[in-house]
Amino acid sequence: MSEKKIPYKIYLEEQEMPTAWYNLRADMKNKPAPLLNPGTHQPMTAEELGGVFCEELVKQELDNDTAYFDIPEDIRNFYKMYRPSPLVRAYCLEEKLKTPAKIYYKFEGNNTSGSHKLNSAIAQAYYAKKQGLKGVTTETGAGQWGTALSMACSYLGLDCKVYMVKCSYEQKPFRREVMRTYGASVTPSPSMETEVGKKILAEHPGTTGSLGCAISEAVEKAVTNEGYRYVLGSVLNQVLLHQSVIGLETKTALDKYGIKPDVIIGCAGGGSNLGGLIAPFMGEKLRGEADYRFIAVEPASCPSLTRGVYAYDFCDTGMVCPLAKMYTLGSDFIPSANHAGGLRYHGMSSILSQLYDDGLMEAVSVKQTDVFEAAEYFARVEGILPAPESSHAIRAAIDEAVKCRETGEEKTILFGLTGTGYFDMVAYEKFHDGQMDDYIPTDEELAKYREMLPKID
Ligand SMILES: *Cc1c(COP(=O)(O)O)cnc(C)c1O
Repeated sequence: MSEKKIPYKIYLEEQEMPTAWYNLRADMKNKPAPLLNPGTHQPMTAEELGGVFCEELVKQELDNDTAYFDIPEDIRNFYKMYRPSPLVRAYCLEEKLKTPAKIYYKFEGNNTSGSHKLNSAIAQAYYAKKQGLKGVTTETGAGQWGTALSMACSYLGLDCKVYMVKCSYEQKPFRREVMRTYGASVTPSPSMETEVGKKILAEHPGTTGSLGCAISEAVEKAVTNEGYRYVLGSVLNQVLLHQSVIGLETKTALDKYGIKPDVIIGCAGGGSNLGGLIAPFMGEKLRGEADYRFIAVEPASCPSLTRGVYAYDFCDTGMVCPLAKMYTLGSDFIPSANHAGGLRYHGMSSILSQLYDDGLMEAVSVKQTDVFEAAEYFARVEGILPAPESSHAIRAAIDEAVKCRETGEEKTILFGLTGTGYFDMVAYEKFHDGQMDDYIPTDEELAKYREMLPKID
């Protein structure tokens, strides 16, 4: 098909939307390591996990073999309100960069939560509702996940209790109010509402909180309240499964025009958008049907893949969650307060960790001022105001495209544009005022947290 026929936006028809999620684990030779019970260090059973998570989600979490899970009709209908999401050919960006590369991005910011997180939020809320639960608890850092979950819960009539990292609660009052608009209750974490919150506050008075700490509180709230379960917006296998809708749509759209990407790039916090975007492409690579380069982009201030270790670690600060084997900086690691760009989690999805360890995926880290420079450049050229998280991928995509300009290679670059940055204007403001710096942890600092990893044989 000739180049000219590729439109600026490749949309799919409703009937072309995926009807099943793709489970990448089914095609992995080396499966991701199982979650372990923090007490016994034995793999978590479905029964144990069922105390924390919804039944159906536990099944999805533990299933390394079933390649496709049907998307229930109710979820497909909800998806139709904001999906399919556009796949954009970045003609303007290509022209501005004077690159022979062809650049595409899958834009997930076209819903009120402003990110891809709604794709999993609706699935998790749906299974909670189906199980007859009263509500769900969760944590949120920057607020996108909490917003997505409150939207999904209000749609289904479920109670939604969100523990929001205290510094975000204070710095992002608008996010908080969006959640409350959708009926969620939002508590700054650490709080005095939970035992683990009280303990953390006693040990670290005045702490502004962390994701790991908010997770502990949300889990405690769920397991001590009848009719509640805990839900998580990233990292877990089930979340990557739901997010495969991003990659499946992308693949269908590209296939329509016979386009094959050479490089696929995504930002990586807990790994859910990247895992979802690359899923069907990585599946082809694992089955030996095609080859692609995959690049995970993480912040230099929270570099779990590029500078972490592959080991079992706690998922939370309070150590109430199961242990996960992942590339991690240690569950006590908290990125510098100067870090404004999101992607602050200390660990990485077990699936992506295994793929990275097997050499199937690359990773790079980028400094936050470089990220915001790319964000602003992109906003001025392509019009979309990107989320700081998404802008990590933009940075890496631009760098790849510039390399193509130097070598003359006509590569096809695909990246995930996970969301919009309207609620991140304080970070943009810092950047514009020259107040943003690039804090990068030293080796000594990282070693200190590494020593605190649990010892598992
Ligand atoms: C949460 C979030 C991310 C990072 O989470 P992953 O699980 O790594 O995908 C990236 N971009 C946006 C806009 C987000 O809200």
